[in-house]
Formats: sequence, structure tokens, C-alpha cells
Amino acid sequence: MASITLDNVVKTYPDGFTAVKGVDLDIADGEFVILVGPSGCGKSTLLRMIVGLEDITDGELRIGDEVVNDKAPRDRDLAMVFQNYALYPHLTVYENIAFPLRLAKGQYTEEQIDERVRNASKLLELDEHLQRKPANLSGGQRQRVAMGRAIVRRAKAFLFDEPLSNLDAKLRGQMRTEIARLQRNLATTTVYVTHDQTEAMTLGDRVAVLRRGELQQVASPRGLYDQPVNLFVAGFIGSPPMNFLPGIVEGDVLRLPIAEVPLDDRLRAAVGDRDIVIVGIRPDSFEDADTLEPDRAGAGVHFEADVDVTEWLGEVLYAYIPFETHDAVRQQLEDLDRDLDGEGMRSQLIISLDSVSTVRAGDTA
Ligand code: ATP
Repeated sequence: MASITLDNVVKTYPDGFTAVKGVDLDIADGEFVILVGPSGCGKSTLLRMIVGLEDITDGELRIGDEVVNDKAPRDRDLAMVFQNYALYPHLTVYENIAFPLRLAKGQYTEEQIDERVRNASKLLELDEHLQRKPANLSGGQRQRVAMGRAIVRRAKAFLFDEPLSNLDAKLRGQMRTEIARLQRNLATTTVYVTHDQTEAMTLGDRVAVLRRGELQQVASPRGLYDQPVNLFVAGFIGSPPMNFLPGIVEGDVLRLPIAEVPLDDRLRAAVGDRDIVIVGIRPDSFEDADTLEPDRAGAGVHFEADVDVTEWLGEVLYAYIPFETHDAVRQQLEDLDRDLDGEGMRSQLIISLDSVSTVRAGDTA
């Protein structure tokens, strides 16, 4: 096993497009790091450079202490699991898993191969299907065969490129837990590309957020959620997404489209000497005033608003509340929107309530 270090890594494709713009990332031995970001941000390019399927234009890639920029993929001793599994249709499950060992000609005896294949297939609960061909397996089983092939090699690191995106929601949930368990048991360094919020927030020790080829923040899931370094990370991490509201500072109050908030010391420090700010509020920071315990009835800022649409998901209810934007801040919101690739300006507030008494569409909340 090994650490993976990226030092100012750049990728410019032959057509001149720079997909990765100087990324620094230290992945510790045994660590599980998730790469997330919008479509086209360079996640797969970064992963493919690590595994050696793509040349590195500039910068340095180290596995352990060794610089591997010019090392062939097969000599890097990394195992990659793809979205489409990349299984051989004419080979049985057994032979698919054994494949990388057979490829290393003469390095393993038949007994060693057999032992490794059987151990991996037990771990992945594939032992009953070893003689089947991939066409006769479910999507989840195919994904496990692809993982088995990565495991038997005892590679220095696992690289996953959206491995679960072809599975339905339920199976994705199961496989997610299996990958987490497997990684914990094997303690193999793992880099995992996804754009699934749940995978990003639950699987990794740390999450690296990429945007337009640049690393925005690398932190624990909790760290990203609670302390995003910029508006992009704030808006990207979390589902439903953080609300961005324009705020106008007037004396001792902050005027938001939904309410006036008194500026206490903490808010005053955050606002500084600005008179227009963007206020980020997570949907789960709201509560239904009717369900507050009596001792908290005076807490927070109360507001009333018309609820447009509600969505009930079992343990939470999302309520959508349209708001009007003051002319003075319209330009700022449009700039923000452009900055965030259309993800910024929302003319409605999303609130998420877990103890719901009364809120329905058409109500005043
Ligand atoms: P997705 O989530 O959609 O898979 P991604 O974050 O994995 O996206 P990449 O596949 O790494 O994105 O691509 C990053 C950028 O590089 C994209 O803008 C893409 O169009 C561009 N790109 C990828 N391959 C090439 C290539 N061979 N030549 C030129 N540009 C490329």
C-alpha cells in the first residue's frame, strides 16, 4: 500500500484545453479520498493521470516516495474499477477475477491464483457464481466481480471511477456500504470519483471538491458542510442545496427577503463593513415554529411566508417558498449566478423540516 501525492499537477489535452490546472493533493497511506465536482470539472482526467491512462503535462505524481509520471500503468501497481465494469464477456466470473494474476505471466502458481480468487469471491459473496458469465449476473454482481479483480492483485491503491452510477438506487445503497466495509477491512488507499452527494458525504475520510480543473477545498465531509471555503463549495455540497439570499445591511439589522435579522456581534463580524451580502442558510436550519418546545419559542428569527410547493419524503418535508428580490441587489445576484454556473440565484427558499405539524402547500408557514 502507499500514499499518493500530486504536486502542482496539470493536464492540457492536445487540442490546447487545460482540464486540470495545478492540483496539489496528498493522499495518505490507507486513506479513502473522494473526488467530486460538476460534470467536466476534471475528476476523471485526474484519476486517469494517477493510474497512467493519461499523460501528465506538468507537475509531479508520486506513489509512496517514487515519482511515477513516466511509469507505464501496469508498473504503477494500482487497480482501477470503472463505471462500465470492463469485464470480459466470454470469461467466467472465476476467470475474470483471476485475469490480472494470469496477466502477470508466471508470477503466481495455479494454487496461489485459486486461493486468491476464492478469498476475494468469499469476501464479495460471489462464491456461488464463479462459473457464470457476466451476461448472467445482476448489475451489482458484475460490479463486485470488477472489485474482485482489483482485490486479487493486492494493488497499492484502488481507483474508482463512478463505480455505482449504472445501478438502481437501492442496489447503489447496498454497494456503497459494501465498498465502505471492504475499504475498511483491507485498509487500501482509495481514490473514488463520484457526483453522487450521498457517496461523497458518507464514503470518504476526506472529500476533494474540484471545479473547472481547480481544487476548491479538501476536508472531511463534516468540514465541507459546516465550513465551506467559498460560495461554490457551499452551494455544491448538501442536498437540497444551501439557500443563498441577498442581504442588505441597514444600521443594526440585516434585511433579507423573508425577514429582518438583528445584527448580533457574530453577524456584525461576518458582515464587516459591507452593505450588501449574500447570506447562506442550509434548508435544515429552519424549524416549524408550531413545533418548537416552549423553552425555545423565543429563539431564532421568526418569519411568515407563503408556501408554494411541499414534498414529503417520509422523515422530512421540503417546503418551497418564493421570494422577491430587492432591486438594489439584483445585479449582485446575477453576478453570483454567473459565477456559480447558474446554480446561485434562486428565487425560492427551500426549507427542510423534520418535525412537521402543519405545513402544506398553500399555507402560510
Ligand atoms: P464527468 O462527471 O462528466 O465525467 P469529469 O469531471 O470526469 O466529468 P473529465 O472527463 O475529466 O471531467 O473532463 C474534463 C474536461 O476535459 C472536460 O471539459 C472535457 O470535455 C475535457 N476533455 C476530456 N477529454 C478530452 C480530450 N481527449 N481532449 C480534449 N478535452 C478533453
